[in-house]
Amino acid sequence: MNIKNCKKLKRQAAGHDGPLTDPDEMLLFKPSNKQEIDFYEQLAVREVKENTNDVPFQDWTPTFLGVLQENSDQINDKNDGILAEEMGAFLHENKTANAQSDGKTYLVLENLLYGYVRPNVLDIKLGRVLWDHTADEEKKKRLNDVSKSSTSGSLGFRICGMNISANRATFDLDAKYQVPQDDSHIFINKYYGRELSGSNVIDAFDLFFGDDKLSAQNRQELIDMFLKRLQLFYNTLLNEEVRMVSSSLLFIYECDATRWANLSQNQELIHPHISYDSDSDEASSEDNLTASTSKKKELSRMSLIDFAHTKFAPGSGVDDNVIEGVESLIKIFEKLKTKYTI
Ligand code: ADP
Ligand code: MN
Repeated sequence: MNIKNCKKLKRQAAGHDGPLTDPDEMLLFKPSNKQEIDFYEQLAVREVKENTNDVPFQDWTPTFLGVLQENSDQINDKNDGILAEEMGAFLHENKTANAQSDGKTYLVLENLLYGYVRPNVLDIKLGRVLWDHTADEEKKKRLNDVSKSSTSGSLGFRICGMNISANRATFDLDAKYQVPQDDSHIFINKYYGRELSGSNVIDAFDLFFGDDKLSAQNRQELIDMFLKRLQLFYNTLLNEEVRMVSSSLLFIYECDATRWANLSQNQELIHPHISYDSDSDEASSEDNLTASTSKKKELSRMSLIDFAHTKFAPGSGVDDNVIEGVESLIKIFEKLKTKYTI
């Protein structure tokens, strides 16, 4: 496999035009900065806290597979079709990045959309304050203005963008917010979310969960699962000393009714990281297989992404800036739950 064979990620919900995926769409290559790479590297070696029943912080993030330097030696594709093994092969071949390279540095993550047929994707940016110490005065002012004039300031989160299958609600939505994609998918741009207020932000969730291809019961289940995930995530954050700036919650769910019909039993709230131990013995390759098989059964997921301005901050207490946003989301999902109950 070569980075040059990679293609643009499909169904991107927001952010910069940069994420790539391999031909099998299992991996995600994101042009990244040192802060984000450092954060993922710390996550990978972090001990899971004992004496707590909380979902560990790292379980909310995509599996981290390594770093790839453009122009460095490329990797061979073992092409065995098993996600975990492909990832293992990838890491194995890429342990050393070329320090002399002047190409881009890519963060290599699992592609969260792998296994989905028709994913609806929503990017929710967390936090009232959207800049960190690296921002210059101009950027601070610009981001303060965005925060003040949007739900970032009032609720602590903002709808950053979506990539969704056309539904009844998208027909009624002003064309200026929509960019048609292939296969009757629609990209909802950042201006949609910026113009929402506390009184109508719930409409964004009706738009996102409004897919007519799913039954009312499926949608009720989805709302219920995302509410539970938000509550669990809230508990995780209460025990973490982290400072997140401009990180997002990525909501993903399947809109393909056939996959729902076949897989809707026993859906998991949290999805474990995919094991990518390349020197795996027999036992762990079984685990690998389990992880990659369970991925193909997944119908929805909530994941925490984008750590380009995020760091662990031991001794600094909980991250109020982000916790408020999660509280607001929980309140909205409680309302949605009442609304979607059949
Ligand atoms: P940016 O710094 O450009 O905002 P993000 O990390 O927020 O970068 O990613 C931008 C978009 O790319 C997200 O909104 C999401 O749609 C997509 N994306 C990011 N990471 C993943 C992933 N691991 N799997 C699938 N899609 C992803
Ligand atoms: Mn982002």
